[in-house]
Amino acid sequence: MFKASKYYNLLQQLENFFSTANSSSLLTKPIDPNVLKSQLSLDLPNEGKPVEELRTEITSYLNNALKTAHPSYFNQLWGGFNSACFMGDMLASATNTSMYTYEVAPAATLIEQALVTKMSGILGFKSADGQFTTGGSNGNLMAMAIARHHVLPTVKQDGMTSGPKLVAFVSREAHYSFDKAAHILGLGTEQLWKVPVDSDGRMKPEALSELVDRARVQGSIPFFVAGTAGTTVRGAFDPFEEISAIAHQENLWFHIDGAWGASVSLSATHRQLMAGANQADSLVWDAHKMMGMTLMCSLLLVKQRGQMLRTFSTAGTDYLFHDEVSAGEVPTESSTSSTELPIEELPTDFGPATMHCGRRVDALKLWLAWRHLGDRGWERLIDSYFELAQRAETIIDKHPSLELVSSRQSVNLCFRYLPQNKQQADELTLKVRQALWETGTAMVNYAQVEGKTVFRLVICNNQTRSEDIERFFEALVAIARRLEQEMC
Ligand SMILES: *Cc1c(COP(=O)(O)O)cnc(C)c1O
Repeated sequence: MFKASKYYNLLQQLENFFSTANSSSLLTKPIDPNVLKSQLSLDLPNEGKPVEELRTEITSYLNNALKTAHPSYFNQLWGGFNSACFMGDMLASATNTSMYTYEVAPAATLIEQALVTKMSGILGFKSADGQFTTGGSNGNLMAMAIARHHVLPTVKQDGMTSGPKLVAFVSREAHYSFDKAAHILGLGTEQLWKVPVDSDGRMKPEALSELVDRARVQGSIPFFVAGTAGTTVRGAFDPFEEISAIAHQENLWFHIDGAWGASVSLSATHRQLMAGANQADSLVWDAHKMMGMTLMCSLLLVKQRGQMLRTFSTAGTDYLFHDEVSAGEVPTESSTSSTELPIEELPTDFGPATMHCGRRVDALKLWLAWRHLGDRGWERLIDSYFELAQRAETIIDKHPSLELVSSRQSVNLCFRYLPQNKQQADELTLKVRQALWETGTAMVNYAQVEGKTVFRLVICNNQTRSEDIERFFEALVAIARRLEQEMC
């Protein structure tokens, strides 16, 4: 069935692909969808052909794939390449299984348990339940569902009945997945209240207190607050100590969305950004962002053991989970509410305690990468990102036409190029970004910060070196100068 020689060609093709993912090659080759259509074999044939003959399809895909491992790829909160992760990904495909039962995923279950334990320990959680999910967005959704079940244990059977409204709080700069969660969970987006932020993009604790009071005065039930560890645009870390104190006093579930920034916990130098995060009831951590794992690799941790199972277990699963909680046997608060259980007490069948059914073995690549890098390797990686971000900040500060629009909190830099005519700055950001992309020079995203259209440079690509950052700014300024002339 499996012959290694069958795959040599593919590996060779990948080698060619990666050989152009470096600073002496262009990043992109923008292509019109109609032209691309003609280059791909999009018709799905009636009669197939041997795998050896799929070479042309693979080549046409690779020729048009974006090189996200290129050192000038800064467009999203992920990028780069990690070989141990690649090996883990292949291994997961080859040994294809699902994370729902120990029976079908014995080693993978223990590996996932070990990562849950390790990563909770790094965050200062004494113990926690946890599982990999299909991404930070779904982790946030699940956390809100657990909080809702905690405050309204009848919700599973009765749904959202016509009682008082449940209100959740996030900062104005929180990720849009909370709006989706409020919608999907039946709270309604109007019940997701956005707390104002300070000039650095951090949630204002006093504003949170005021909004919680206002919700109570209206007869609603405040039940959930999420702080963000590394906001998507500015990379800001909310003040967790203060939020935690309010959550504790007001009886709110305290969640942390650390999809982007929880990885700073791997560095002794930078983990103070997470101060107070150990007080959270739940936390999301994407290893496919700063840790450079391939998409998806995302962990949801829930501090109080049993909460995940109580929320997500359902009747009618005895066909799958033979010895576990099934029909009518949902565990009660008292039977599973112990908070400090050793690792053996993590469930051996992950399935009943998550919203997923089939789930890929995402923990495998992270485990392999961790065995490869060790704690020290992760720390060096995170520290190197902060050093590059510092380098970028220095370049911006020193350049007369570049302006940092929001102070740097972590590895996000929100800046713009200031033309002679400042009115044109926003338009110029968009034009320069487009030109960087069209010329294959770099990919960087843009965002709105304080009413300004800014470049959002994010440092999370393990292939990027200091020279790449310098080249990026040189190219950006050169293009901006040229376009500025044309706009006059
Ligand atoms: C990226 C991000 C998310 C979404 O995570 P996915 O894994 O892409 O679903 C949520 N919150 C923040 C702060 C993010 O940066």
